[in-house]
Amino acid sequence: MRKKIVAGNWKCNTSLQEGVELAQAVNSVVLERGAEDVTVVLGVPFTHITKVIDTVNTDRINVSSQNCAAEAKGAFTGEVSASMVKSTGSTHVILGHSERREYYNETSEILNKKVALTLENGLTPIYCCGEPLTIREANNQNDFVKQQLEETVFTLSSEDFSKIVIAYEPIWAIGTGVTASTEQAQDMLAYIRSIIAEKYGNEIAEATSILYGGSCSPKNAAELFAQKDIDGGLIGGASLKPEDFLAIINAY
Ligand code: 13P
Repeated sequence: MRKKIVAGNWKCNTSLQEGVELAQAVNSVVLERGAEDVTVVLGVPFTHITKVIDTVNTDRINVSSQNCAAEAKGAFTGEVSASMVKSTGSTHVILGHSERREYYNETSEILNKKVALTLENGLTPIYCCGEPLTIREANNQNDFVKQQLEETVFTLSSEDFSKIVIAYEPIWAIGTGVTASTEQAQDMLAYIRSIIAEKYGNEIAEATSILYGGSCSPKNAAELFAQKDIDGGLIGGASLKPEDFLAIINAY
């Protein structure tokens, strides 16, 4: 059975102190909940990773970075490599987020290097894809997402592809309060699964966790997660509020 995953993406929010408090709160609500049916991931700023790992029960909560360098090491001032992320005890790396593609010019070529380094270091990439509003309005979203995947993770071997998690985040739904309708989200995730099946076969397609992200909230999570192809969520704003984040985990 596919893993159900609820991953928070804190983005560029919280001081270290606030981050530790948030992690403590998430930790308590996850432990109180008891059930271990959902994999919980916290995508925190680099500066917070070690403290958050010290704060949470890492048997129950996975800690992720939100990026890593496209180079293994060396004279790249300000960069944080995948091996450094690994050395903290972190397990996941969010890659290809639309904010990184848009504001930091992350191309498919750059992302391929990051995915490769992430996998080489035994980390799980949460690989994001998703179309802007103009593409959705022209009803070209399937081709757009297919191209994003073909240029990047579809170049991986079957063995490597089976280690990744995909997150579909339509750009028009991120931080806008506009969620994709349940039908739009399900249709896209089913489409992504179908092209994974074409490329890697049914077994890998059925085993790949595909998440939805974009204004996911306690209000809409249950309906989204009830869909056949939606294996969880990548949560921005609501992951900064422990009660909302727990409600989303409990939406399963
Ligand atoms: P929001 O949940 O704030 O819309 O953000 C989604 C997102 O970008 C998660 O990576």
